[in-house]
Amino acid sequence: MCLFCPTPVAAPSSLWSSRRAFLLLAGAGAAAPALAQVDVGSASSMRRLVSAETLEQSAVQQYGQLLAQARAQRALAPAGHPQLERLHAIARRLIPFTTPWNDRARHWRWEVNLIGSKQINAFCMPGGKIAFYTGILDQLKLTDDETAMIMGHEMAHALREHARERIAKTQATNLGLRLGSQLLGLGDLGNLAASLGGQLLTLKFSRSDESDADLVGLELAARAGFNPAAAVSLWQKMGNATGSSQGGLAFLSTHPSGPQRIRELEQNVPKVQGLYEAAVRQ
Ligand SMILES: [Zn+2]
Repeated sequence: MCLFCPTPVAAPSSLWSSRRAFLLLAGAGAAAPALAQVDVGSASSMRRLVSAETLEQSAVQQYGQLLAQARAQRALAPAGHPQLERLHAIARRLIPFTTPWNDRARHWRWEVNLIGSKQINAFCMPGGKIAFYTGILDQLKLTDDETAMIMGHEMAHALREHARERIAKTQATNLGLRLGSQLLGLGDLGNLAASLGGQLLTLKFSRSDESDADLVGLELAARAGFNPAAAVSLWQKMGNATGSSQGGLAFLSTHPSGPQRIRELEQNVPKVQGLYEAAVRQ
């Protein structure tokens, strides 16, 4: 089957019409867009137990605190820093393809910052607040394509609202609440989300969240013209770094790189190869 024609109808002839169709057919909230090439389902409905607004506000606060801390330690890359410029350029290419995955992203104020640290780490908080640590760029000697795969993966966690889902599940379990309880008001868990402290930085996602972020990130990056093969080389580098890294392994402890992860990415590269080729032809 031609990758440009995922359905027998409405085969778009240009990137613009393709992207337009992609946007028009996108579902509400964090459902998978109708023209998505990778096979992921809708985001868990459980996440609705926590207010997205509250969580995004909490992320703004926590992100602000992290930046202030880095600035005080002179570890925040200033405007014009070459590695920061590089991250901004990659983000600018990825962001236009995010809204089909989550309509709220239309209103997000995306931010990308670089923090000087040996840690192999990167994240995107709810609402599009991204940080990379210099350790992940330097120790893994990432190419732009590989960096885009990490950024796409992290953006996907935010777009698919994995933190929101994880917090909803944790709180529901903690409170002994059962799914579907009519007594559960949105406000109750919303208030809890507001008092989460530093939890957003230490959240551990499930294996299925990781797989979901891998595939959505792969597609985002391919649509933005980044080579999908880099997803495989990236995780091979991650795997090699385990055990040999001098810095903290925060990212690797929450993102185990195993043969299963690499195999799944390899299987999905052909699904987005056409999107990548179309993007680089433009
Ligand atoms: Zn992840």
